[in-house]
Amino acid sequence: MDLVSYDPATSEPVGAVPVTPAEDVAAIVGRAREAMPAWRDLGADARAALLVQAGPVFLARADALGELLSREQGKPLREGVGEVKSCGWGLREELDDIIAALAPETLEDKRTRTVLHRDPFGVCAAITPWNFPISMCAWMVIPALMAGNTVVMKPSEETPLIAQAYADVLNEFLPQGVLQVVHGGDAVGKALVAAEVDLIAFTGSREAGSHILAAASKDLKRVMLELGGKDAMVVLDDADVSKAARFAARNSFRNCGQVCVSTERIYVHEDIAPAFEEALTAEAKGFVVGRGLDAATKVGPMINRHQKEHVLGQVRSAVADGARPLLGHEQADSPEEGNFVRPIVLADVGPDLDIMVRETFGPVACIDTFATDDEAVASANRGIYGLGAVVFGGDLERAAAVARRLDAGMIGVNRGVGGAGGAPWVGAKQSGYGFHSGRDGHRQFAQVRIVSLPV
Ligand code: NAD
Repeated sequence: MDLVSYDPATSEPVGAVPVTPAEDVAAIVGRAREAMPAWRDLGADARAALLVQAGPVFLARADALGELLSREQGKPLREGVGEVKSCGWGLREELDDIIAALAPETLEDKRTRTVLHRDPFGVCAAITPWNFPISMCAWMVIPALMAGNTVVMKPSEETPLIAQAYADVLNEFLPQGVLQVVHGGDAVGKALVAAEVDLIAFTGSREAGSHILAAASKDLKRVMLELGGKDAMVVLDDADVSKAARFAARNSFRNCGQVCVSTERIYVHEDIAPAFEEALTAEAKGFVVGRGLDAATKVGPMINRHQKEHVLGQVRSAVADGARPLLGHEQADSPEEGNFVRPIVLADVGPDLDIMVRETFGPVACIDTFATDDEAVASANRGIYGLGAVVFGGDLERAAAVARRLDAGMIGVNRGVGGAGGAPWVGAKQSGYGFHSGRDGHRQFAQVRIVSLPV
C-alpha cells in the first residue's frame, strides 16, 4: 500500500512512498541492532567524518529539496530552502560540539580513578512531526547517530517525501542499517515503540507523547519527548509597542502558526492595549497568504482540513463566548478555499476559553490585558504547557525579572525564544520530558557508564 503525500495548497498528490507493514517493523529494528556494534566501535571522530560529508550535499541540493519541502508542507519556498540549508550550515561545528559533550571524563580521589563513558543505548527510534519536516529529523537523528546508536526514523505521514530525501542524503555516506526509515501513520509509530528499541526520541503532540511514555514504561525504555506548547507573550507598559506588535505578528503567523513556539497567548498592559491592538492588526494585514511556491506568499496553507477545522472551531467558540474580533474572524463562518486561513486577531480573550488553554497551532493572535506585573506572570503561567515564552519591555532589568518568573523552558526578552549557540531546546511542565541540543541535550542520547580502578 502507498502513502500518498498531498500538496496542502492544491490538494494534488506530490508523490508516494510505500507504507511499512507494521509486522515488518521488528525485523527492521533487528537490522538496526545488527548494525550497531560496528557503528559504535567506529568511534565518534570517524562517525563525524562520515556525517560531515552530508553538509555540502544539503547546500548543493537546497533549491530542489526546498521546493519539495514547500510543496509537501506548504511553507514559503525561501523558508523551505532555508530549512534544508540549516542541515548543512554549521554541521561541522555541531558534530564537534557533540564529540566534546560525549567525551569520556576522568574523576580521581585518593583511592580511586573512575572513567565516565558515554555509550550508545543501542537502537534509537526517532519519531517526528510535519511542521519542520527536515529540521525535526536532523535534531533527533544527528545526536543519536553521533552517540553511536543506530536509528530507525518514523517521519510524519504528512511529509514522508522530504523526510525520506533527508535520510537518503545521509545514507549516501552511512554504512547499511545505521539509518533506516519506516513510513505510515500512528500504527507504524506504535509498532516502532513496541519493537526492541532502546531509546525513543519523539517530537510531536502532548497526546502522542503521553501515549508513547505509557507504552515505553513496560520495558522501561528510555524516552525523550519534545511536545506542544501554548506560548505566552507579555508586553509590559514600557515596551516599544511597534516592535512588540511586529514580533507578535511574525511569531503568531509564521508557518501559518504551525510552530511549537508560536505565540498563542498575548498579555498586554491595559494602558497600551489599544495601541498594541491597532499595531498588531495592521501588521497582520501584511501577511499575504498563498501557495508556498508563489513569490509573494508570506504564509502558506494549514497542513490539512482537520487542522483548519480545529483552528476555526476554536475561533468560532471564542467569539461566541465574548472575545472581541479584530481581524479575520469571519473565516470561522465562511472559510477560505482549500486549507488556507488568513491571520486572525482577537482581543479580550478570557482566560478559560478553549483557545487560551488548548494548543491552537494556527494563525491566530489572542490578546488579553493585565494591570500589574504579578497579574501578567500569573496569567502567563496558567495551564499545563511550558515550552517557550517572551517578554517585551523598555527596562531590560525589569523585563528580565519578569522573564525569570515565567514557568517555561525557553524565555526570550525583546526577542524570540532560541538561545545562543550551544543552548538546549527545552520544554518545561508538560511541553517536554527530557530535551535535546546543547551539551546537556546531546548527553541524553548516551548511556553513562563508569569504570573504577584503584590508584
Ligand atoms: P503528532 O503527535 O500527531 O505526530 C507526531 C509523530 O508521531 C508522527 O510521525 C505520528 O505519526 C506519530 N505518532 C502519533 N501518535 C503516535 C503514537 N501513539 N505512537 C507512536 N507514534 C505516534 O504531532 P504532529 O501533528 O505531527 O505535530 C504537531 C505537534 O508537534 C504540535 O503539538 C507541536 O507543538 C509539536 N511540536 C513540538 C516541537 C518541540 O520542539 N517541542 C517541535 C515541533 C512540533
